[in-house]
Amino acid sequence: MLEAKGLMVFYENMLALNNVSINCEGNQIVGVFGANSAGKSTLMYTLSGIMEDIRKKEEMAGGERITVLGEIRYLGQDIMGLKPSKRAKAGIVLCPERRRIFPECNVLENLRIGAYLASPSQAKDTLEYVFNVYPALEKLKKRVGGFLSGGEQQMLAIGRALMAQPKLLLLDEPLLGLSPLIQSIMVRSTKEIRDEKGISIIVTEQYARPVLPIVDYAFILENGAAVLEGTREELLNNPDVRSAYFGV
Ligand code: ATP
Repeated sequence: MLEAKGLMVFYENMLALNNVSINCEGNQIVGVFGANSAGKSTLMYTLSGIMEDIRKKEEMAGGERITVLGEIRYLGQDIMGLKPSKRAKAGIVLCPERRRIFPECNVLENLRIGAYLASPSQAKDTLEYVFNVYPALEKLKKRVGGFLSGGEQQMLAIGRALMAQPKLLLLDEPLLGLSPLIQSIMVRSTKEIRDEKGISIIVTEQYARPVLPIVDYAFILENGAAVLEGTREELLNNPDVRSAYFGV
């Protein structure tokens, strides 16, 4: 479904992604694990095309020079030159790190904003689906985003991304700052979304352990480079990987 090859991203002379190649097949959940500053958000911005917007903004403001190299193919097409809005329309939807919901809009308004790419009937069906996956949100329809808990905000952020009708959902550190209980709810619902809607998912996390049970394949990023990859079983059966990365 998505195949990225040899991605390199420089912020000025600082190499943030170093020759990263990753794949996500249809209907797969792919994990990308790495410590702080490993390059996870840079990768997600590059795949979703938002890096192009950031690059242009910096260029216009006379700010830092960002260079992006490599190849990204999505559903058989080269999308490297495609704007983020076009990629979203084609089904690549990013749910960014730290949620970024609209704090002054209520839950329903936040979700409706996400539906800008959907037909009215898709919007209606997806809204129902979001409340089905996250029943807690339905009870909070009229509450403004800023007054939601971290977990509720994360549900809302993923719900809003679903409203955009993704075929490939990019989740950047969805568990960040959540309690273990809420984390397990988020992990379970992520699998549900893949199983029920057939949406492929690339999920980044600092810690692999909570997400590992639902990933089909995973990559480990270190200092901008993909240093290891394999199926869940391959990674779990590798004793070095187990202790160094998964704490098991
Ligand atoms: P985190 O878990 O902290 O979000 P991450 O794995 O998402 O980390 P990135 O945010 O992709 O990492 O950052 C990768 C590297 O690039 C880091 O060293 C970071 O400081 C650097 N970096 C990120 N954005 C910029 C920028 N706009 N300008 C310069 N350097 C940046």
